[in-house]
Amino acid sequence: MLPLGSARAASGPGGSVEAAGRRPHDPGRSCHLGSAGQSTRRPIRGQPVVDFNFTAEENAFRKEVRAFLEAELPPEKAFDHEFNEDPDLWEFAFEFTRKVGQKGWIGLTWPTEYGGLAAPPAHRLIMAEEFALHEAPLVNVIGWGLAAGALLVGGTEEQKKRFLPGIAAFDRFWAEGLTEPDSGSDLASLSTRAERDGDDWIITGQKTYTTWGHHADVMFLAARTDPDVPRHAGISVFCLDLKDPGVTLTPLYNLGGGRQNHTFIDHVRVPGDQLIGEQGKGWSYIMNAFYAGGGLGARHADMQLIFDKVVAYCNTTTRGGRLLIKDPMVRSQLAELEWMIDCMRLMTYEALSNIETRQPPQFGGALSVVVMKEHQLQFAQIITEIVGPLAQLRTESRWAPIDGGPEAWYRWSFANHAGGTSQVKRMVLATRGLGLPR
Ligand SMILES: Cc1cc2nc3c(=O)[nH]c(=O)nc-3n(C[C@H](O)[C@H](O)[C@H](O)COP(=O)(O)OP(=O)(O)OC[C@H]3O[C@@H](n4cnc5c(N)ncnc54)[C@H](O)[C@@H]3O)c2cc1C
Repeated sequence: MLPLGSARAASGPGGSVEAAGRRPHDPGRSCHLGSAGQSTRRPIRGQPVVDFNFTAEENAFRKEVRAFLEAELPPEKAFDHEFNEDPDLWEFAFEFTRKVGQKGWIGLTWPTEYGGLAAPPAHRLIMAEEFALHEAPLVNVIGWGLAAGALLVGGTEEQKKRFLPGIAAFDRFWAEGLTEPDSGSDLASLSTRAERDGDDWIITGQKTYTTWGHHADVMFLAARTDPDVPRHAGISVFCLDLKDPGVTLTPLYNLGGGRQNHTFIDHVRVPGDQLIGEQGKGWSYIMNAFYAGGGLGARHADMQLIFDKVVAYCNTTTRGGRLLIKDPMVRSQLAELEWMIDCMRLMTYEALSNIETRQPPQFGGALSVVVMKEHQLQFAQIITEIVGPLAQLRTESRWAPIDGGPEAWYRWSFANHAGGTSQVKRMVLATRGLGLPR
C-alpha cells in the first residue's frame, strides 16, 4: 500500500475550505495510487508518491463524456431516478440509457466479444464521476452492475455471449431480488425455493424492497436450489421474467419519494438456461458484488455536486447581516463536508488503484462502503444545520432554499440501508478484512 498521507500532501486534491472562492469541482485529476511506474513525481523519503493527475488519454475520454452529456442531457431532464417517479423523466431515462448503450459505454470495460469496449478501469470511474456530476439518469444498474458482474465472474461462455451484449445494449431492465420479508442482513437464510421440473425450475417465494421492480422486465433473483446442504452452498441465482403471470408486484413507497416493491412469485416456471453461472454458487456471486468488492461508484461526485450548491448558497445568503460564508461556524461545517468528500474520493481512487494493480481491496472493500454509508447521513445532517430551520421546507415552497435540496437530501440519506447496512459491513470489515473471529 502506498503512503496516502504523503501523496495527499504532495498533490493535494480538493483544496482547502477556502470554499468561498473555490471553483466548481473539476475532477481532471486522478488515481494510480498503486501504479508508481506511472507517476511523474519523485519519491519522498524513499517512498513512491501518488500521482493524482489523469493521463492525457483519460482526460480526452472525460472530455468526450462531457460532450456527450452536453449534447444528450438537457439540464431539465437531469434527475435522480432512485427517488423520482415522474413518468416523463423516466421515459427520457430509458431513451438516454439506450443512447449510452449505443456508445458502447454500458459495457465500457467488458471484453469486446461480450459487447464491451475493453476500456481500462479508470475510464469507468471517469464516466461514473461525470454522470454523477451531471445527474445523468443512467438506469439498469442491477443489469450492468450486479447481473453482468455475476455473469463475467461465473457465467459459462455461452451465457456470457447470450446475456452480456443485450445488457450492454439495454435490451431489458433488471431488478434485484435478494431481500425477503424474513431475510435482510442475514441473506443466507432466504427461503424462496427453486425446484427442478425436467429442464426447468419452478420458483416460489416472496421478495421485498424490489427497487425499480415496476419498471423492470427481469429480476436477478436468489433462490434456494438445495435445502440439504449448508445454507450458503444451496443458493443459486436466476434471471426471472417479471412479466410472467405468476409474478405480482405491489408498491412499497419510501420516505425519499421513491418506490420499492413487494414481489410475490407463485410457481413461476423458469427455463434451465436462465440459471446464472453454476448451481449453488449464487452466494459467492452476490458476495463478490456487494460485500467484498469496493466497487467504482462515484458517490463522492454526487456529494460534490451537492456541496457546490451549498457553497454557492453560502456565498449569496446572509444571516444577521453577514454572508454565511463569512461565519466561522459555517466555514468549519463546510470544511467537514469537503473533508468527507475528499475522504470518499481517495477511497474510490484507492479501489481503482487496487483494480489496476490487481491487488485485493483493502479490508475486503467494506471499509469504503462503511465510510460512504455513514458519511451520507452526517453529510445531509450538517447541511440542514448550515441552512437552519428553512432546511425543512420542501421544493414546492417558494421559501425553500436551494430548491428544497436540503430537505430532500436529508430524506434520501436514509436509503443507505440498500445493499446492506453499515453495521453489517462493519462485521465484514472485521471478519474478512481484519481476520477477527466471528
Ligand atoms: C431504499 C432501499 C432500496 C433497496 N433495494 C433493494 C432491492 O432492489 N433489492 C433487494 O433485494 N433489496 C433491497 N433493499 C433491501 C436491503 O438490502 C435491506 O434493507 C438490507 O439488506 C437490510 O435488511 P433489513 O431491511 O431486513 O434489515 P434487518 O436485517 O432486519 O436489520 C435491521 C437492523 O439490525 C441491524 N443488524 C442486523 N443484523 C445485525 C448483526 N448481525 N449485527 C449488527 N447489527 C445487525 C441492521 O444493521 C439494521 O440496522 C433495499 C433497501 C432500501 C432501504
